[in-house]
Amino acid sequence: MQDWSTEHWTSPPQVHRLNDYDHFGHPLYQRPTLDGRLHWASTETSTEYAGHIEGALTAGLRAAQAVLNGQASANRR
Ligand SMILES: Cc1cc2nc3c(=O)[nH]c(=O)nc-3n(C[C@H](O)[C@H](O)[C@H](O)COP(=O)(O)OP(=O)(O)OC[C@H]3O[C@@H](n4cnc5c(N)ncnc54)[C@H](O)[C@@H]3O)c2cc1C
Repeated sequence: MQDWSTEHWTSPPQVHRLNDYDHFGHPLYQRPTLDGRLHWASTETSTEYAGHIEGALTAGLRAAQAVLNGQASANRR
């Protein structure tokens, strides 16, 4: 069994400084940029299970839906 917490490159001694989840899921992280052409879909953007695989999947679905919604409204113009 692999204990990732003992691996230098995945869990260096100062990793606890990176464990601030306070801003994960913030609406700013979900806001597209470049006039709606660039959407963010990482686990950090997720309001649920941010920092985990489930959060990454949720974020991917949200971003894909946002792209589709953007295309639909562009087609209506
Ligand atoms: C050691 C470890 C163990 C973990 N264990 C668990 C676990 O047991 N359960 C769990 O739920 N979560 C676990 N996680 C967390 C989980 O892996 C992440 O939350 C998840 O992978 C995030 O997915 P993501 O798509 O947001 O980002 P990532 O999986 O990091 O994907 C980002 C992708 O973008 C690519 N990329 C980065 N910069 C650029 C660039 N400039 N241009 C192009 N591509 C770029 C990267 O190469 C990568 O492929 C673990 C993480 C680590 C490090």
